[in-house]
Amino acid sequence: MADAEIGVIGGSGFYSFLDDVTEITVDTPYGSPSDSLFLGEVAGRQVAFLPRHGRGHHLPPHRINYRANLWALRSVGVRQVLGPCAVGGLRPEYGPGTLLVPDQVVDRTKTRAQTYFDGVPLPDGSIPRVFHLPFADPYCPAARTAALAAARGRNWDAVDGGTLVVIEGPRFSSRAESRWHAGQGWSVVGMTGHPEAALARELGLCYASLTLVTDLDAGAETGDGVSHHDVLEVFGKNVGRLREVLFDAVGALPATGERTCGCAQVHDGWELGIELP
Ligand SMILES: [Zn+2]
Repeated sequence: MADAEIGVIGGSGFYSFLDDVTEITVDTPYGSPSDSLFLGEVAGRQVAFLPRHGRGHHLPPHRINYRANLWALRSVGVRQVLGPCAVGGLRPEYGPGTLLVPDQVVDRTKTRAQTYFDGVPLPDGSIPRVFHLPFADPYCPAARTAALAAARGRNWDAVDGGTLVVIEGPRFSSRAESRWHAGQGWSVVGMTGHPEAALARELGLCYASLTLVTDLDAGAETGDGVSHHDVLEVFGKNVGRLREVLFDAVGALPATGERTCGCAQVHDGWELGIELP
């Protein structure tokens, strides 16, 4: 029997108040995930929490082993993943405290392993075939709907849709970069949403991002630019609220076997060359 059916990749603030959390360590053919998985029950569902940056937040966004993280979640039975993350707002109306559930993503990262299907043999000798992922709509529609309904239910008027641009970091954008991102019509900027969404799709997992705006990005504000201190302060103020929305969204996700979104059928007709966990 699976240990969990739903995964949440986010900070320790999301699971640290749960009763009866079981910590398990999971290894993967891609190395170790960011930390242990923390298994607990939310809204009658079995959930695996994974601190994206490791406990104590020691991993910067470009050092996170995204492949190991998603693989580890799938290996304990997870088939639907919610990925809350902190972002900067690229429009004045998306100020601190805005919750935006994106429907598009732009990859501006540089160094991250972003596919399982790169032809490199796994430790067991199996060789992933080259596989070109359909990614026109990067997020699971059912998971997005659950997240938006959960926010509404908590009187948080979440923004439905928008484009998350993911930068390499760990530095924030310059004003010119930020104005360019805004000029493209993109909505929010973060550092972790990619390749998380793409890898989830490759594993046939449902995935949705819940982005919490912690600051206006450098091109959209008139002060001294973004500081890490501001980000932490706004995130800290909203983490309790975001936890409530996440937990309600967990309860609103369909049962694993009753999904109609198509995320699990992404490999149909393809010879993968490897066995997914
Ligand atoms: Zn789905």
